[in-house]
Amino acid sequence: MHCPFCAATDTKVIDSRLVADGHQVRRRRQCLACSERFTTFESAELVMPGIIKSNGNREPFNENKLRGGFLRALEKRPVSADDIEKAINTIKSRIRATGEREIPSDMVGELVMEALKVLDKVAYIRFASVYRSFEDIREFGEEIARLEK
Ligand SMILES: [Zn+2]
Repeated sequence: MHCPFCAATDTKVIDSRLVADGHQVRRRRQCLACSERFTTFESAELVMPGIIKSNGNREPFNENKLRGGFLRALEKRPVSADDIEKAINTIKSRIRATGEREIPSDMVGELVMEALKVLDKVAYIRFASVYRSFEDIREFGEEIARLEK
């Protein structure tokens, strides 16, 4: 990377260590042109985009909240903890793959619905009824009819 002081392209790493429980590498670099030192942090795909809620508020991505949504929908349903974790990891990868700094919370909701549709139809309807705020029994019927198609 370019030296932030003189923009020279030749820098050398003078120290390298793991930080943040091994999730990041901190490197001390020295510019070969101007000899200034600077620090870089590298991490692999670990930064999740922020979430923009429907009311416009922003909040950090919260994996526990995502897991909570799954667990509530899947309560007493025959789906293993392993499958839930797999679904959560798939959703996280898809969110990261957008490459966006922020994504609407709706997108997370839709991804959860997609995952539940495959995992367990009852959980899917439960989640959809809350997420889409079904107003009456007719809307449940309509969603179930769509599922059966
Ligand atoms: Zn320099």
